[in-house]
Amino acid sequence: MFDTIILNGIIIDGTKKSRYHSDIGIYNGNIKAIGNLNNSEAKNFINAENLIVSPGFIDIHSHSDLSLLVDPGGESKVHQGVTTEVTGNCSLSPFPTGKASPEILQKSIVGQILDSDINWKWKTLDDWAQNLESNGLSINIAPQVGQAALQIATGATKNQPATKKQIEEMKFLLIETIEQGAFSLSTGLSLAPSIYSSTNEIIELCKSISQFPDIFYATHAREAPGNQFKMIEEAIQIGQQANIPVQFSHIAIIDHRFYGSGPKMIRLFEKAFSGGLDISYDIYPYTAAGAGLNQAVPTWAQSGTINEYLKRIKNSKNREKIKSEITNGIGGLKQKWSNWIISDIKNTNNKNILGLSIEEISHQRNISPAETILQIIEEERGAVPTTVHNRLESDVKYFLSHELAMIGSDGNAISPNGFYKNSIPHPRFYGTFPRILGRYTKGNKKILSLENAIYKMSGFPAKRLKMKKRGTIKINNIADLVIFNPETIIDQATFENPHQYSIGIHHVLVNGISVIKNGKHTNAIPGKVLRRGKT
Ligand SMILES: [Zn+2]
Repeated sequence: MFDTIILNGIIIDGTKKSRYHSDIGIYNGNIKAIGNLNNSEAKNFINAENLIVSPGFIDIHSHSDLSLLVDPGGESKVHQGVTTEVTGNCSLSPFPTGKASPEILQKSIVGQILDSDINWKWKTLDDWAQNLESNGLSINIAPQVGQAALQIATGATKNQPATKKQIEEMKFLLIETIEQGAFSLSTGLSLAPSIYSSTNEIIELCKSISQFPDIFYATHAREAPGNQFKMIEEAIQIGQQANIPVQFSHIAIIDHRFYGSGPKMIRLFEKAFSGGLDISYDIYPYTAAGAGLNQAVPTWAQSGTINEYLKRIKNSKNREKIKSEITNGIGGLKQKWSNWIISDIKNTNNKNILGLSIEEISHQRNISPAETILQIIEEERGAVPTTVHNRLESDVKYFLSHELAMIGSDGNAISPNGFYKNSIPHPRFYGTFPRILGRYTKGNKKILSLENAIYKMSGFPAKRLKMKKRGTIKINNIADLVIFNPETIIDQATFENPHQYSIGIHHVLVNGISVIKNGKHTNAIPGKVLRRGKT
């Protein structure tokens, strides 16, 4: 007797191996039989004729740390077939708070991973996880710990080296959080305050955890203009010197002077990999970034707390200097302000600028783009989410097709009718995985076999996370599964109209429970916060 039998599916098992036809029997959340189960008994049957059955997708790069508390259904992701969200990326995690109050971490970090209006009570990974699980969630989470949280907890947020005492305190909190089951440490070396830390500081933090089993280091690199190769070399250096596997986050070429240099960048990865470093990277299939407007502002100006930052901007001498640096281009890269679009606002007076470019707003206000940027940052009190059109399709395709690439959305699990319904998020929140399957595995844009694309969304990230019972279809693995139509699968979300579910995902099971059934969310909440080594 099974709980569920999936009948007649085309199984692609997440290992890159070829496909086969089979039934799958699920009992108590686990895959208990693969083979002909036609005459077996079950409480539920799912007809998967002509449909692909694959492991649920593991989004190696998400920012759903808070969004799942307000939108626990995680609709934008489960409708893509995602069953596990890896959170805490780009140095941003909502724990640990150390001796600082939760409010301080919340104020400093929240705008960067989307606001959620929740009053934080938690201080540790354990407390946060308990909040999420008691609230209920439809999707699993694999949490990482972000370096910025460690910096804020210990006051190491200034544009200067951390003190010895701060580093020791950061290590203490880091180890404590890793012991609670965080999968990795993440940095965001082009975001304040992570950007202020030296390579050696990161190596020291990584060394303090590299003895833990199944650990890795995830980095949103120092992707400043002109830094295209150095940012990769730094990630490799950290991995080699601290003896820790490396996940390079959301690789891209955002500086037009380096368009087409993908092969030269990837050679650095290949060399490190063949030299023994366990390194891989993730990517989302779009030619636009999701960035904070602060990434247009010189980093020296952002030192310290949000209040210190806002005070510094207000000072007229600083303001002129900041504006001239913005106008001349940070790192010598002049920005096209028509490419920077405001994607969310908190200040209700700013409703009229949502969806407009910096160029359009500067015309509206009759001021320079640089002054516009500073005004908006002041009105929004710090972080302002934007979408920035800055990449070449040919570069994206090159990175996607390489064997060291896995897929990560860099987006949040949200809902069209939920907390973020009035924002204009990057379409990757809703479309990343079906976009790969619908646009890059067939037709004249084909760059991946279906088996390989699925591997990059399931088996490969599971390897990075050292998950033993997820990411592949085999007996006794946990039944995180997606069933989709390979002919019809496609993303629908656009930059103008992002709150659109993808097409072609028929069923999604999380821990053996149907969360999507015949294309509809069931409101089931079987999701869990997973812990390193216990997955
Ligand atoms: Zn990032």
